[in-house]
Amino acid sequence: MTTTTTATNDDDTLTAALRDLIYANHILHHHGVVDAYGHVSIRHPTDPSVYIMCGYMAPAMVSSPADLIHYHVSTSDPVDPAAKKGYSERFIHGEIFRRFPTVNCVIHSHAEEVLPYVVSTGVPMRAVYHMAGFLGSTPAKVFDIDPHYRDGDQRDMLVRHAHTGTALAGCFGGVGEKPHETVVLMKRHGFTAIAENLVTAVYRAIYTRINAEAQTKAMTVARNMYGDQELQKAGFEGLTDLQGEGCSLMCEQYQDKPWRLWVREVQMNPLYDNSLRWELRE
Ligand SMILES: [Zn+2]
Repeated sequence: MTTTTTATNDDDTLTAALRDLIYANHILHHHGVVDAYGHVSIRHPTDPSVYIMCGYMAPAMVSSPADLIHYHVSTSDPVDPAAKKGYSERFIHGEIFRRFPTVNCVIHSHAEEVLPYVVSTGVPMRAVYHMAGFLGSTPAKVFDIDPHYRDGDQRDMLVRHAHTGTALAGCFGGVGEKPHETVVLMKRHGFTAIAENLVTAVYRAIYTRINAEAQTKAMTVARNMYGDQELQKAGFEGLTDLQGEGCSLMCEQYQDKPWRLWVREVQMNPLYDNSLRWELRE
């Protein structure tokens, strides 16, 4: 887990991870990735068989470790059987952590800018600028939950069960422990972003939203310029493989800079409260 301070023992490591998780809840809300819905989780920094996310509440309202619930990766059952109510969609997180030991943070969002690419067919979302190199050169994969429902399941698009969570995790592809995709879109629902650490996952979730917005605007401009008949002439190029790789490397190398800004933004906003407040040092 990448964290922003140096921890001296396991307790300090966990405290730093929980503090950053609370900040991530606030940052994702501040940047329009989540509203009252959507969630972020981390793998426990010293016990990889456990993951942590907030209980049943809006991400902006999370304020202390008491709001967080620890779950077994193997079952998505709470470690504390007396834990308060959690998210019904925690299986998104549990099944991705179970499939990919290298993934340490999962973010799920219904960001409206991404919706055009999950409600229409044949309009793929792709990386259209350098901040979204992590999306690669091919259109973002779209997971359709419908074929994975079983008799009796409520077909509300939510990932409420281990079997639908397993199917979503499978959509990230890859060989062995390393997923191929960083982001998977979810048909008529939203998207899920993953990373080896929390800061990278937050960055990917924010720039997935912005990339979708940029693509929609670019397509609108092209349509206005060329008209429906000639839209094809406008072309629509995503990043190449090498560009995606290079941009991804560049952005992750410098992600500590936006992270510090994002933390400061939510620290300065009275909506957000973090009992594990981090005093930023220059
Ligand atoms: Zn959802």
